[in-house]
Amino acid sequence: MSHIEMENLKKTYDHQQNVLDGINLEISEGEFFVLVGPSGSGKSTLLRMIAGLEEISGGLLKMNGNVVNHLRPKERNLSMVFQNYALYPHLTVEQNILFGLHARKVSKSEQKKRLMETAEMMGLGDLLKRKPKQLSGGQRQRVALARAVVSQAPICLMDEPLSNLDAKLRAHMRMEIKRLQQQLGLTLVYVTHDQVEAMTMGDRIMVLHDGEIQQVGDPITLYNEPANLFVASFIGSPK
Ligand code: ADP
Ligand code: MG
Repeated sequence: MSHIEMENLKKTYDHQQNVLDGINLEISEGEFFVLVGPSGSGKSTLLRMIAGLEEISGGLLKMNGNVVNHLRPKERNLSMVFQNYALYPHLTVEQNILFGLHARKVSKSEQKKRLMETAEMMGLGDLLKRKPKQLSGGQRQRVALARAVVSQAPICLMDEPLSNLDAKLRAHMRMEIKRLQQQLGLTLVYVTHDQVEAMTMGDRIMVLHDGEIQQVGDPITLYNEPANLFVASFIGSPK
């Protein structure tokens, strides 16, 4: 079980108006859920709150029915992939992939087994002894994904993971991430400002604007029945 609920979830930074203004949302187990919206709309803030990297100013965040507001990131059983990949430059690919498992106290033999499976799945088998600077952008991105996969956490959070890649590779990686999510049955919360990514990848999509939910729905509903002009113009539907 790995479903996520938000009840009137709020975020204010010092002396600022609401960055997130009472978010109510339910994300199902195994769902590919996309948060989309223009820059500054609050996507990363919401994702970081789910991750436990950002304090919650109000409301409840639940996972599997339990309130997790005050749990530390390590206690939430989730993995995260960042826009800049956040790889350790002085560590090899192998060490980068396995880094989080030390903290989780996974045995050496289990680490070895997971490393081999993950490297094969992500096509990284020949690159394990390299350092990040000896990799292409696409390969670095794969290492970041591998690090999430190897954790075997049922929930994965991704913040604009493809935005540093060129258009062709981006299109390819969309398919790979989708395949990975289905194969592993992940509950995936995926942040992007790219409408095409949102519409082609998401089971459901939430459109965010200035910290407020504009609409939640599947791609076809958003396209055919946009809730307002903002959604219509952002998604590009003919309303
Ligand atoms: P997005 O990811 O959609 O581009 P963010 O969640 O990064 O948006 O930011 C939402 C709003 O919160 C923006 O107005 C941003 O300036 C503000 N913000 C983000 N992080 C901080 C912070 N650490 N301190 C103050 N304001 C912040
Ligand atoms: Mg962001």
